Amino acid sequence: MNIYKTMYRPLKPAGIDDRRANIVGGGIAGLATAVFLIDDAQMPARNITLYEKKPVMGGSMDGTKRAAGYLCRAERELEPYMECLWYLCSKIPSLENPGRSVLDDVVDFNRDEPIHSEARVIINQGEIDSHYHDYKLAPQYAEAMRQIIGSTEDELADKSLDDFFDAGFFKTNFWTCFHSQLAFKDYHSVIECRRYWQRFTFITRHEYLEGFIHTKYNEYDAIILPIERWLTDQGVHFVNDFAVTDLQLDEANNTVMGIVAKQHGEPTTVAVNSQDLVFVTTGSISENSTFGDNHIVAETNRDTTDMGTFTIWQNLAKKDAKFGHPEKFLGQIDKTKWISFFPTVKGYPEFFKRIERLSGSPAGTGGLMTFKDANWDLSFEIHHKPFFPYQADDEEVGWGYGLYGENIGNYIKKRMWDCTGDEIMTELLYHLGMLDIKDEVLAHTYMSTAMMPYCTAQFMPRKLGDRPKVIPAGCTNLALLGQFVEIDDDVVFTVETSVRTGMEAVYGLLNLEKDVLEVNTSRYDIRYLLERVKRFAGIHGEIKASDLPPMDPAKLPELEAGLLKLINDVPPFYQMYLGRDQTIPTKAAVLHPQAPRSK
Ligand SMILES: Cc1cc2nc3c(=O)[nH]c(=O)nc-3n(C[C@H](O)[C@H](O)[C@H](O)COP(=O)(O)OP(=O)(O)OC[C@H]3O[C@@H](n4cnc5c(N)ncnc54)[C@H](O)[C@@H]3O)c2cc1C
Repeated sequence: MNIYKTMYRPLKPAGIDDRRANIVGGGIAGLATAVFLIDDAQMPARNITLYEKKPVMGGSMDGTKRAAGYLCRAERELEPYMECLWYLCSKIPSLENPGRSVLDDVVDFNRDEPIHSEARVIINQGEIDSHYHDYKLAPQYAEAMRQIIGSTEDELADKSLDDFFDAGFFKTNFWTCFHSQLAFKDYHSVIECRRYWQRFTFITRHEYLEGFIHTKYNEYDAIILPIERWLTDQGVHFVNDFAVTDLQLDEANNTVMGIVAKQHGEPTTVAVNSQDLVFVTTGSISENSTFGDNHIVAETNRDTTDMGTFTIWQNLAKKDAKFGHPEKFLGQIDKTKWISFFPTVKGYPEFFKRIERLSGSPAGTGGLMTFKDANWDLSFEIHHKPFFPYQADDEEVGWGYGLYGENIGNYIKKRMWDCTGDEIMTELLYHLGMLDIKDEVLAHTYMSTAMMPYCTAQFMPRKLGDRPKVIPAGCTNLALLGQFVEIDDDVVFTVETSVRTGMEAVYGLLNLEKDVLEVNTSRYDIRYLLERVKRFAGIHGEIKASDLPPMDPAKLPELEAGLLKLINDVPPFYQMYLGRDQTIPTKAAVLHPQAPRSK
C-alpha cells in the first residue's frame, strides 16, 4: 500500500459545496460512497441523499430479530487485506467504545477470539475427516491450474471450470475446502475463479481458516449500523421505500438528467443537474430473497418485472453497450440460487455444547464445518454469544447453507429447495451424528430460512466487457456500484469489492488527487507463491532435487517459452493497479530546447 498517496488528504475539489450527490442502494457500497464523499472529498453531508427500496439499510449485510428468532440470510468471512473496507472502518467511530473506531473493535475482537478450525470437513455422520489437510493435486490438475494462471482473461473468455477439470478435481480436498467456503461450482467462470486463486495466494493454511476475520456482532450491528449512525449525524438524507427503476440520460448516454423511481409505490422522478453526481448500485446477490421458517418453505422468487437494482442495470444496458450485458448473469435462477438457514436455539445449550465437543472449538472460533457426504453440500457454523447486542442469555445462533439444494438429501429424501426449516435441521443433525437429540433440538429451535435466487449470479461465465466499468466510458456524472461492475484485479462476492467501487467512483468522478488503495499484490510475492506451489505438490520443508519434475532436453524450448511468457506477463510495478500510482511519472522526459547539453 502506498501510504504516501493513499493516506493523503486531498485539497477540497472546487465547487464541491454546490454539488449534490444521489446514491441509489443502501448496501455497504452506497453507504461507503457517502462516507468517501464526506471524508475524502469534503462534500457537505447535507448535499447527499441515499435512496433505498427497503425500510432498513445494509442490503446483503443484514441482521434482524424476527418474531421468534434472529436472521442473517448472509454472512461473511472477511480477511485482513480488504484494504478499502478497513480504510472505511477506520473512519467510523465505534458505537460501544468511545475514542475507538470500528476497525479498532474488529482488530481487538480477532486478537481475543481468532478463528482456527480443526474440524473443517466432517464425514461419516460426525467424524472429522483426518485427510482433508492434504492439498496435493494430481499432476494433470496442477497442470490445468498452471494453464489457467498463465492465461489472460481474454483467453479465458466465457469458459467455465469444467472446461479445464474433470470430475476428479471436484472431489479433491482443496476443492472441498475452497468451493464450500467461496461458493464456486464446476460451471462457474474460470476468469473469476482464477482471480480468487491469485487474490488469496497469501492464505496458505486455508483449511484451518486461519487469518479469516469475524466481527464481535453480526455485520449489520458491527459495521452497517455504526456507518449509518455516523452518516445520520453528519446530516446525510436517507430516503426509504424509494425504488429506482431507471435513469434519464442525455442523448450520448453520458450524463444523468433524472432518476426514475417509485416512492411508496407512486411514480416519481428526481431531476439531476449536470454538475450533480449519481451513484447507482446495479445488482444485488440477495435481491428478491424469500424467507421461510420451521414449517414454511422459502419459495423461489422468479419475478422478472421487479429485480431491484438489476432492473436499473437492465434498463441502462438497453440504452448502451458500455453498460454491459446483465443477461450473462441473470435468467438462470436454478443455477444461481442458494438456500441459507439461521437457527435460533432457545433454552437447550446441549446442542451447541455437543458441536463444540465435536469441533474442539468454542462457539464462534471454529468457523465453517462442511459435511462432505451431504448431497446438499451442507456447511454450518455456530456463533459466539452474544451475536446480537440484544441477544438473551439462553439463546444461541448459527448459520448454514447448501450449495447443491437441487439434490435429494441423504436422510430427508427431498431437494433442499423444497424443505421446511425443520427438515433442513433434521438433515443437518443426521450429518452431525446427532439425530438422538432431534426432538429436543426441533422443539427448542426457531429456523429462519432464506432463498436467494441470484446468490452466485456474479460467478456465471463471462468475458471482459460484460460488466460495466465503475465509470463507464464518457460518463460525466454517473458511476456504478456493487458486485456487477468491473474492477481490475479484484474478485467479486466480497464486501471489499462493493466498498472499492464506492472509492473508485468518488475519486474518479471528482478527480480527487488521491489514489485508490491497491488490491493486495500477494500474487506477485514469491514467498506466498512458493508456499502455494509446495502445498499443491505435496512438498514439506525444503524443496529437494527429487521434488523437481524430470528434465526432458527435448522440452527445453517449450519450457523457455513458458518462462518468458510468465515473466513478461508480470506488469511493471507502476501499472499493477491500473497505473494509478501517479507518483511514478508516466510522461517521457522533455528537455528544454535551450538546455546546455554535453557533446
Ligand atoms: C450468502 C452470502 C454470503 C456472502 N459471503 C461473503 C463473504 O464471506 N465475504 C465477503 O466479503 N462477502 C460476502 N458476501 C458478499 C457481500 O455481502 C456483498 O457483496 C455486499 O454486502 C454487497 O453490498 P452492495 O452494497 O453491493 O449490495 P447489497 O448489499 O445487495 O445492497 C443493495 C441495496 O440496494 C437496495 N435496492 C434494491 N433495489 C433497489 C432499487 N430499485 N432502488 C433503490 N434501492 C434498491 C437493496 O434493498 C439493498 O439495500 C456474501 C453475500 C451473500 C449473499
